[in-house]
Amino acid sequence: MKQPVYVKITAMAEQEAAVCRSIEYIRSNLLQFLKKNERVLICFPKKEDACCRVLEEAVLGCEAVPVWLGDDCRWITILKTAFTSKCNCIIAPPLMMLGLSKVARHMGTPLFARNVLLSGYPSPKWLVEAVERGLDCKSWGCYDPAVGAVICGFSCSSGRGVHIRDEEYGVDIVDDKGNVLPDGEEGHIVLYPKAKPELRLFTGDTGRIDNTPCSCGSTSPRLVDMDSFKADYAALSQVGESLHYWSSILDCRLEKGECGLELEAVVFQGEKLPKFPGCAKMVIRPWNPETDEPFDHHGVLKNMFLKGFGH
Ligand SMILES: [Zn+2]
Repeated sequence: MKQPVYVKITAMAEQEAAVCRSIEYIRSNLLQFLKKNERVLICFPKKEDACCRVLEEAVLGCEAVPVWLGDDCRWITILKTAFTSKCNCIIAPPLMMLGLSKVARHMGTPLFARNVLLSGYPSPKWLVEAVERGLDCKSWGCYDPAVGAVICGFSCSSGRGVHIRDEEYGVDIVDDKGNVLPDGEEGHIVLYPKAKPELRLFTGDTGRIDNTPCSCGSTSPRLVDMDSFKADYAALSQVGESLHYWSSILDCRLEKGECGLELEAVVFQGEKLPKFPGCAKMVIRPWNPETDEPFDHHGVLKNMFLKGFGH
């Protein structure tokens, strides 16, 4: 199995020229649905890192208006900001977008967004459908294999998978031993920068390459039947997914502690709850609008990911 090389690829992505190309790449994709003067809520704390800068510049490049969440990342603030800013588009990590749709439903707050952009694509089909249903909008996805500033593709506008950003990245599908499989066969997704093909990024995602012409007009290689995080901790993430699936569960966190599985779930009081899995430690508590922020799923996933493949 190839070793992951996140650090090197992230470092490459942070070079000035690479950042400029990323801005243009995102901008050209946002233009598919974003119009002049539309307000775009960006659900990341505004920091001067490459990822936030790329998003902000890309939105400005479409002559749209970025709205930042700021440092207050509580669920209630995300909802209020989405409502009062009358944003037409929301950009957020998938589980935050899902939580926002649940909070909006729970509070009876209608949102104006017509399009949402999930960072951290591919997301499970049920999650995409729940977000689209909950917020009554169309969803798009940036293919970001959980390493932040590296954007490797964008969802197809005809809903036929993900088009790879082929000016920058090549893609191989490999078997369990790392052997490259012929196009059309399903396996692990490996990405590499075209400028440095020796850097192989084992994404942890699975899928296959479909080389048939796409109805959206894009000629970039297309990944279909994608699934995420099927590896060592698949069982853990499946439990997490089955809990996030419930509209009565706003957020939950699962970790492997010293004594076994630890679970913390934030739920809407008075709503029907699922049967929770057996855990060494379990905290199930009602949502407290005064204090609750989304759990840091990105950090958790990234840590798990690095542990899972770094051996
Ligand atoms: Zn397409």
